[in-house]
Amino acid sequence: ARQIFQWLYKGIYDYELMTDISKDLKNVLNENTYIENISCEKIMVSHEDETKKYLFRLSDGNIIESVYMKYKHGNSVCVSSQAGCRMGCSFCASTIGGLQRNLLASEMIDQVLKIQSDTGEKISNVVIMGSGEPFENYDEVLRFIRILHTKEGLNISLRNITVSTCGIIPRIIDFAYQMPQVTLAVSLHASNDETRNHIMPINRKYPLSQLMKACKEYIAITNKRITFEYALIEGVNDSEKDAKELALLVKDMLCHVNLISLNKVDESHLKGTNRQSAERFKNILEQHKINATIRRELGSDIDAACGQLRRRYNDWKN
Ligand code: SAH
Repeated sequence: ARQIFQWLYKGIYDYELMTDISKDLKNVLNENTYIENISCEKIMVSHEDETKKYLFRLSDGNIIESVYMKYKHGNSVCVSSQAGCRMGCSFCASTIGGLQRNLLASEMIDQVLKIQSDTGEKISNVVIMGSGEPFENYDEVLRFIRILHTKEGLNISLRNITVSTCGIIPRIIDFAYQMPQVTLAVSLHASNDETRNHIMPINRKYPLSQLMKACKEYIAITNKRITFEYALIEGVNDSEKDAKELALLVKDMLCHVNLISLNKVDESHLKGTNRQSAERFKNILEQHKINATIRRELGSDIDAACGQLRRRYNDWKN
């Protein structure tokens, strides 16, 4: 088992190439198992930075996307955990066609393996921030993380793996106990229930007060910093009042706020905040002693935001 395992995560897709395995065993494997092998349909390379976006086709024809980003601290892959998404966030392209299905751990691992092989670069960071809600596909995401981490797998440090959730409270607590070293990002995007209900329907099930309580519990259990993601949307969540309210909401928490100007999605009328207003928002947070960074937008020329590329797939095919 160990031999086969090692071959698989070296990126070998054919039992015949596993030289230290007997002919009999190869026959048994060929008759009873298959090796996941998603196919690369299209690669887009950003002219602005070295970001690459990949469109992959799964064996049942579903299309998913993944992104490769080069940072000073290492090479990062953003992985999809579902084909489509059912969370319905109003600013996100991934959810427009609804959920197709959960991905298997093997389909998540193969996104990383295929990108590693295409770029020739060792992947050191994985963020589960592509299409889908990872905590709706909890068990397979955990299997995926274990394979990423194990020495015979991709040998990636748990601290270099990030899972992002829109706020599925019971899973946040499960995750705190089961994967305390993995980094957790929570998509906040609003500092009050009224706005959050409007842009993130999940808030009606798990409202902010309960979500923040769960985040505090997560921090107490893991002693780890949470990343709050906040996409600035013009006229929706980017006012001075919003910034102050956000500062109060996360006050005294071990956390970091990642601000990003919303990437424009064709199907939505929502627009990103301009640089100046984003800076103003960040300054207000900092005045309240909240750690905040404005994220660089990588790959904006190649539609690298959540689910945007997959939406275009049918246009290209025709
Ligand atoms: N379902 C998970 C993970 C996938 S989305 C979650 O909600 O966290 C990864 C991040 O991209 C989330 O914070 C999501 O809200 C954000 N996002 C989605 N569409 C975006 C857009 N158009 N511009 C900026 N961020 C976006």
